[in-house]
Amino acid sequence: MGYLSGKTVLVTGASSGIGRATALAFAREGSRVAVCARRVDRLKDLERELSEAGAAAVRSFALDVTKRADVEAALTGLPSEWSGIDVLVNNAGLSRGLTKVYEDDPQNWEEMIDTNIKGLLYVTRAVVPGMVERGRGHVINMGSTAGYITYANGAVYCATKAAEKSISEGLKIDLMGTAVRVTSIDPGMVETEFSEIRFRGDTERAAKIYQNITPLKPEDIADAIVWAASRPAHVNIHTVVMTTIDQA
Ligand code: NDP
Repeated sequence: MGYLSGKTVLVTGASSGIGRATALAFAREGSRVAVCARRVDRLKDLERELSEAGAAAVRSFALDVTKRADVEAALTGLPSEWSGIDVLVNNAGLSRGLTKVYEDDPQNWEEMIDTNIKGLLYVTRAVVPGMVERGRGHVINMGSTAGYITYANGAVYCATKAAEKSISEGLKIDLMGTAVRVTSIDPGMVETEFSEIRFRGDTERAAKIYQNITPLKPEDIADAIVWAASRPAHVNIHTVVMTTIDQA
């Protein structure tokens, strides 16, 4: 039996891309996998795939991480067999537009800040006290290389991922003396629905992002997450930075 077998894992934003691949990777390790996102129809299909992949147990539920009261209600109201979360993957996130700050629609900033920063904080706030109390747990936050290098027309998205870095480091310091670990996973370009969402369904513009490069696959990131989560309990992987070989 592997380290993650029978562990309870919660993945936010599991309806597509990295979150979905991560949930499946934990399922293959024999973990108990809980998944959430707003598109519950997709989660229903994923539930079946998780069971087929070997998950010890599966649960899915609707969650919009930007809604603080809903996050608190959903996570504090989990049935007892699911409330002992061992691994939290704070993956839900998005980018909106690729626009100059002084020309952008403030609605785009709000969506990114509410999801990537506040959503991550709400979920963390609801889950981590239980980890501290039980004396075990691992928070894995989805960062990005955008948290290190600000790219053209991406100021606010990059700022949200720089914030993720500060929050991950700060949480690690706050948790010193407990058994709870904190890891930030920081990928470069990954081929998911991310670019389509960013351009509000403009697939042509989204495809141009990956021109002349072979992007990472969601499974590459899922591998890194499962690797970090499966280190022995005294080992904390702070950060994993990974890019496609075509990206500087
Ligand atoms: P996808 O668009 O494929 O997946 C994003 C996921 O986040 C979806 O499952 C979506 O579910 C969920 N989500 C978005 N908003 C909310 C919300 N308010 N509440 C709950 N869930 C939400 O993109 P990726 O898989 O690429 O993105 C996953 C993470 O990886 C993000 O944090 C992103 O910033 C990060 N990342 C992505 C990179 C890339 O190049 N693709 C590079 C570096 C980091 P639903 O819409 O059903 O709610």
